[in-house]
Amino acid sequence: MNPAYTDSLNELIDRFATLPGIGHKTAERLAFHILKTDPESAMALANAIQSVKTNTRQCKLCFSICEGDLCTVCSDPKRDHATICVVEQANDLISLEKTGMCKWVYHVLGGHIAPLDGIEPSDLTIDDLVRRVRAGGIGEVIMATNPNMEGDGTALYICSLLRPLGVKITRLARGLPSGSSIEFATGNILADAILGRSKIE
Ligand SMILES: [Zn+2]
Repeated sequence: MNPAYTDSLNELIDRFATLPGIGHKTAERLAFHILKTDPESAMALANAIQSVKTNTRQCKLCFSICEGDLCTVCSDPKRDHATICVVEQANDLISLEKTGMCKWVYHVLGGHIAPLDGIEPSDLTIDDLVRRVRAGGIGEVIMATNPNMEGDGTALYICSLLRPLGVKITRLARGLPSGSSIEFATGNILADAILGRSKIE
């Protein structure tokens, strides 16, 4: 709170400072940039923020982000709807899609199981995944949870629910470094991991 600034400027700085990776100095710089910029550009930014919060919702089928009932992947008839790739977050889906190699559809869990943090299986979309597989027409489920303890544990739990349904279950190969996350993997590493995915015994 700088008493030399107006209340609204202080408010804007505080708001920017809550964003990930933005410290107080950067927040100040951004706020002053908004202050100096022409009204149209500033309002376009405000409208874009409002629009993304108003219009973005979860896909009814895969829980990715979308603007209608279904996301662009789920509503694409050219996709392989018999193969479901299970990811923790929508960001992981976006990273996998950037490789241009994925013709399958997705299921976004909304995180991983972490009992110590109070995240139980019922907090994720695991039941919905089981329902999708049980409904039939699914040939393969690819586990693409993060290659770390929580991601592996979540994949293992899901496998235990899907195995009795007789569906083929694979996981991405360990081209992915352990302890890393899919969101930050390079395209090449993701490409290796997609091609080398292996059956979960
Ligand atoms: Zn979808």
